[in-house]
Parts: sequence; C-alpha cells; structure tokens
Amino acid sequence: MTTATKTDFEPVIGLEVHVQLKTRSKMLCGCAVQFGSPANSLTCPVCLGLPGALPMVNRLAVEYGIRVGLALNCQIAHRVKFDRKNYFYPDLPKGYQISQYDEPLCFDGELQLPLMDQAGNPKICRITRAHLEEDAGKSIHMETGTLVDLNRAGTPLIEIVGGPDLRSPEEAYVYLTTLKRNLSYLGVSDLSMEKGSLRCDANVSIRPRGQENFGVRSEIKNLNSFRAVRSALEFEIRRHARVLEGGGKLSQETRLWDEDKLETRSLRSKEEATDYRFFPDPDLTAFDVPRPWVDQVRATLPEMPEKRLLRFLHDHKLNRADAEWLVSDRNVADFFEACVALHDNPRKVAPWVVTELGHELNERNASIGDLKITPAAVVELIQLLESGKLNNITAKEVFRDMVASGEGASAVARRLNKLIEQDSGEVDRAIAEVLAEFKDAAVADLRAGKQAALGFLVGQAMRKLRGKANPKELGPKIEAAVKDS
Ligand code: ADP
Ligand code: MG
Ligand code: ZN
Repeated sequence: MTTATKTDFEPVIGLEVHVQLKTRSKMLCGCAVQFGSPANSLTCPVCLGLPGALPMVNRLAVEYGIRVGLALNCQIAHRVKFDRKNYFYPDLPKGYQISQYDEPLCFDGELQLPLMDQAGNPKICRITRAHLEEDAGKSIHMETGTLVDLNRAGTPLIEIVGGPDLRSPEEAYVYLTTLKRNLSYLGVSDLSMEKGSLRCDANVSIRPRGQENFGVRSEIKNLNSFRAVRSALEFEIRRHARVLEGGGKLSQETRLWDEDKLETRSLRSKEEATDYRFFPDPDLTAFDVPRPWVDQVRATLPEMPEKRLLRFLHDHKLNRADAEWLVSDRNVADFFEACVALHDNPRKVAPWVVTELGHELNERNASIGDLKITPAAVVELIQLLESGKLNNITAKEVFRDMVASGEGASAVARRLNKLIEQDSGEVDRAIAEVLAEFKDAAVADLRAGKQAALGFLVGQAMRKLRGKANPKELGPKIEAAVKDS
C-alpha cells in the first residue's frame, strides 16, 4: 500500500515597491506635487500629454533617487537615461509612461532583514534595481462613467525591485516593514499606503523543496496594506499548490487581490517587456551622474537603522527587542537619544520610551510628533523617581498626564498632588496608626516571621498617605517600628 504524500513546496517571493518622491514639483514639469487638490488643478501641457510639450527633468527627483539607492546599498548608474514604456490607459494621456528600462538609476543593492538564520546571520534580500519613473493619473469610477484626475500624473516615483529571495509571506511582510523603516530615515516620501505614496506588487511562485529552478509566478496587484500582501501571498501559495497537486498547469498572470472576499482573481495574462516597445525618450537626452554628486548625497545620509541598532545594543546596552523597536521609527529613536543625552543610564530611560511612550502611541494611534511630551520632561520624571519623590505607580500617572498636557514632570506631580513630601513626621504618624490598627493581626504575624504581612502593612500605610510615599522606604521603617515596639 502506498500513502499519498503531499509535495513539500517552497514559496519564492519577490516584491516590487513603488514609492512617490516628495519633491515640490513633478518629475518632468513645474506643476506642484500635492495630495487632495481639486481634480486636474495641478496640470500643464507636459503632464496633460499635449502634443509638442517638452519635459524637463527635476534635479531633486534624481537626487532623491540616488539617496534611496545609496540607502539600499545600490550601485549608482553613471548616467540617467529615460525610456518610453508604451501602453494605453485612460489616465496615461501620452500613451506611454516615462520610465527607465535597461539603465536603471540604482542597481545591485541589498536590504538586511531583522531575521536571523541558524548561524545567527541576518537574512539579506537583494535589491535588483531601483529606477525612476513618472506616476500615472487616477481613474475615478462612478456609476455614470469614469472620470480622470491628472493631478498625480507626472509625480516622481522610484520603483524598487526586490530579488526573488523571500521564502514565506511572513518574510515578505518583514521585508516591507524593514524597507519602509529604512526609507523613513531618508525623508524623501510620505510612505503612506492609504494615500498611495507607497504601493506594492507581489510576485510569487512555488517549487518542490530542493528544486533549483523557479516555478511559474503570478503577480498580485491591488494590495492596500502590508497585511493584505501577507494574506494575498498565503492565498496564492495555497492556490498554486492545489493546481499543481491536481496535475494542473499554472500560467504567468497578473491577479487582483479582493480584500472583501480574501481571494485573488485573474486580471490578465502577464505582459512581457516586448509588449511595451521600450525605446529611449527622444525628448530627454541622457545626462551624466558625476561621482562628486553621488558622494555629496552619500554625505547627507543619516545613520541608517542597521547601524543604529548595533550602537543601541553595544553602547547603550539595550536588549534586542527594545533596540529594534526604538530604531523602527527614526523620530522615536531620536527622542530616546535626546533623553540619553540628559541622563547617563540608557537602560533606565528605555522602559519609559519603549513601554510607557510606546503604549501611549499605540492607544492614541499617534506618532511621536503628535505628542507634546519632551525628552527633558521624561528625564525630569526619571529623576523624581530616582530621588524618591515619586514611586513607580505615581510616576506612571504623572507620565500619562505629561503626554497629554506637555507640562514638565514636577509641575504635573505638584498639580496632581503626587509629590512625596520630605516631612517624615507624616510618614511616622501613618506607620504608627497602621501598627495600632493591626496590632493583633498583621503586626503579630510579622513578629512571628511571616514576611507577607509586611507587604500588607506597607500597603495600608501607602493608603493612609494617599500613595505619596515610597514603598521601598516604608518597608524598612515599618520593620524597625515593629521591632522597637
Ligand atoms: P517584471 O518587470 O516583468 O515584473 P522582473 O523580472 O523585473 O519582471 O521581476 C519582477 C519581480 O518578480 C521581482 O521582484 C522578482 O524578484 C520577482 N520574480 C521574478 N521571478 C519570480 C519567480 N519565479 N517567483 C517569484 N518571484 C519572482
Ligand atoms: Mg513587474
Ligand atoms: Zn505639469
């Protein structure tokens, strides 16, 4: 008897990510790049595709492209050449898109993922190329017909093509969050999937584990979130396996993700490069990218998250989870370092930023720039805690208020009446009252050696002091008072 064993398939995934570059004007004309303006108000003969209009390259768009390429460890081409990619679409008035075909601005890069292999080395995904192109306009489908808004037409894009190096939907998800994280350090894009300034197409195939050749791939479009990318890939991998298990054949095609039905459906068979009849755009002569320019751009790059992570681990001695969380947002990492500049123990600062501030950001669905709290206020709070003027509980209450009010720690602590007074008479009185009250119960237990009773008595004294005391000081005081009595 034979048992039917299912083939063990291995997924192969490669992602194409389009990123809108946040230049003031469009890539080939002077129209403004802006989201949400009245339809077709940001247009001119060039981006409307009127006959005879002449495009001119936006220097900053090229510079942003170089910046992205360098941040992804790419080689930068020695010249910029643009090609026409011909296809018809109502929101593409010229009938072709200006893009880069055989000479991409950036190539042969790599992205290091925060995923470790068994030897403890981070996983690397190759960046095959990153090229500049213009965005198309937008078709707005209505019941009465389709309207076209060309405000977006001509917005500079960089298309980042990842190598077929990802092996699971989860790795694809990590690739996207890591890519977005690194790009966020550059300040060249809003990176908003909602507003369409970051878009992703996912390519996936499967092969029997151990086989070297890739299988037939499908390309999935219409992915509106990183989670959608992951779900669509999971669906598509199952679909491929079902087809192949059933003895069927796959064809290379472009499929759309349906977010409501959670399934992909075929849109068209995948077009080949030859279908586009690429040729160099005769209106845009190629121009050089001098090395000094590249070096200048390189010199303005910030410390990238991979390097910052190592510094947080080795210099600040943070644990990996905290360090990774902190560097995942440049502004959060900057905030943390501003705190560390004012306080010499980064490990004492970390929980306030990672746990407490992280919690507030999450609750409010906010980014750190939206909050009024300052690094100086956080450090002031830590110092109040260290000097015993607040305890762990009241410090957290003060922190939450600081996030909302933007006031300093002492000011908030005073306003909330949480500062622990130095008047030890009050503390001694509270202890005496508690000891009298529980003379026959907890006090007797403590005398009999039951340490748990101490915690109870501390709690009672804290209550009498309305939380304005330091439990670490109360404990020894109560023990001493019990001994003396
Ligand atoms: P195209 O430009 O026609 O979409 P590319 O060769 O540039 O084709 O590849 C696009 C993306 O598809 C890349 O991210 C690449 O990693 C990925 N890819 C290519 N072949 C496969 C495959 N067999 N399985 C999965 N992904 C693939
Ligand atoms: Mg493609
Ligand atoms: Zn224009």
